Amino acid sequence: MIAILRKDASEEAVGHIVSWIEKKGLTAHVSRGENETIIGLVGDTTKIDPFLLESIDVVQRVQRVSDPFKKANRKFHPADTVVDFGCGIKIGGGNFQVIAGPCSVEGENLLHIARRVKAAGATMLRGGAYKPRTSPYAYQGMGERGLDLLLEAKAELGMPIVTEVMDVRDVPIFVDKGIDVMQIGARNAQNFNLLKEVGKTNTPVLLKRGIAGTIDELLMAAEYIMSEGNDHVMLCERGIRTFETRTRNTFDLNAVPVLHNLSHLPVVADPSHATGYTRYVEPMALAACAAGADALEIEVHDDPANAWSDGAQALTPDQFDRAMDRIRAIRAVIAEQRTEEA
Ligand code: PEP
Ligand code: MN
Repeated sequence: MIAILRKDASEEAVGHIVSWIEKKGLTAHVSRGENETIIGLVGDTTKIDPFLLESIDVVQRVQRVSDPFKKANRKFHPADTVVDFGCGIKIGGGNFQVIAGPCSVEGENLLHIARRVKAAGATMLRGGAYKPRTSPYAYQGMGERGLDLLLEAKAELGMPIVTEVMDVRDVPIFVDKGIDVMQIGARNAQNFNLLKEVGKTNTPVLLKRGIAGTIDELLMAAEYIMSEGNDHVMLCERGIRTFETRTRNTFDLNAVPVLHNLSHLPVVADPSHATGYTRYVEPMALAACAAGADALEIEVHDDPANAWSDGAQALTPDQFDRAMDRIRAIRAVIAEQRTEEA
């Protein structure tokens, strides 16, 4: 971390800042230039509040030199993390999967949808049993019964299941039932108690980016999980809130290569929540593949008009069949390029 001081900073003011830094257990290196004085802070800068330092009168600007996320950082872990769900299904490090299924688990139709998405080539099944809804009057999910229906579908089809955990108190239920992936939804992306709780388990976590979350906030959320010991974290770009109103969210596909650059964790892209409309899901799924996503999460429903949540963005099984054909085509082109490069 460096603090850039005003040109006219007095010796006394510089001395005060240096002793404040040293009291925090860090070393301060002062260099006086023509136009400004710079103090370099060396040591554990996590103890320093950059805003507090910047609030000192003579301090013009404070800049971080190293990233505040360590465990999620590619600098300290250059190789891609591969999350393994057993039965040969992995995400990351060149392993690509499609996670598909309804927004909410609604009942027996789950099995029908699951069979169709599996036949189309999806390898993992999604479905929400605990639903984070904007309105308290909207459908809230089936709860434990929904988890059991997902497990029944898994028993028949062998697809690992991905489902959202909303509450710290429910984490043991997910673990006891052997849920394969706990999803942390966009609305809980900074629920630090929940992040820490899933961090204490060994269950893979699909961590969604907050509704108005920055890439750094997403990485710090991953850091919360990893700092408790759980390294099986996947980052998910699901669109962010911007001034644009033509789509439900703005799909920040920049995040895919940016996250790959900054972190070793796999990056999942969710074109369903990112766009909010069925007609945009396939093109943006293809774009996410081209951008290098390690997995896609796509909502599929057998009767979108009557879905209990997110029907407007659901693909029908037939639409999903076609999207999967095109996803495979894009993946094949990428694989071909890689072999040519090697
Ligand atoms: C979901 O996956 O159904 C969901 C609620 O996603 P998000 O948290 O990204 O809105
Ligand atoms: Mn949804």
